Amino acid sequence: MSDRIEKLCVEKGLRMTDQRRVIARVLSEADDHPDAEELHRRAAAVDERISLATVYRTVRLFEEAGIIERHDFRDGRARYEEAPEDHHDHLIDLKSGEVIEFVNEEIERLQVEVARKLGYRLVDHRLELYGVPLKPGQK
Ligand SMILES: [Zn+2]
Repeated sequence: MSDRIEKLCVEKGLRMTDQRRVIARVLSEADDHPDAEELHRRAAAVDERISLATVYRTVRLFEEAGIIERHDFRDGRARYEEAPEDHHDHLIDLKSGEVIEFVNEEIERLQVEVARKLGYRLVDHRLELYGVPLKPGQK
């Protein structure tokens, strides 16, 4: 839903300017974990007055409010996505840079188990897999 982030911002009491609204919409519509420059490119296509600095400020604000999540996928660029309602992990294709989302119940269970054995109740985790595509026939 393309106005989900905007609604969350309003719920959290953030003042919504036109520019913030555009950036919120661009983030809501993205399903590819864009970085700030890519967000800027998309936002500026809607409103050319939106600067890269505004994008940086706005994503920091949204992140601090817990509305979006920042990821570091080791390519030196922070990437953003709407804070997901349902948890997922990421696999990063090192060849194309594509980010693939996945959920694996067994991994989820194992992580809880590992934490428990170490004397902890798991409250959060991040898991990133880095891979290159298998050649045909390698599966
Ligand atoms: Zn994701």
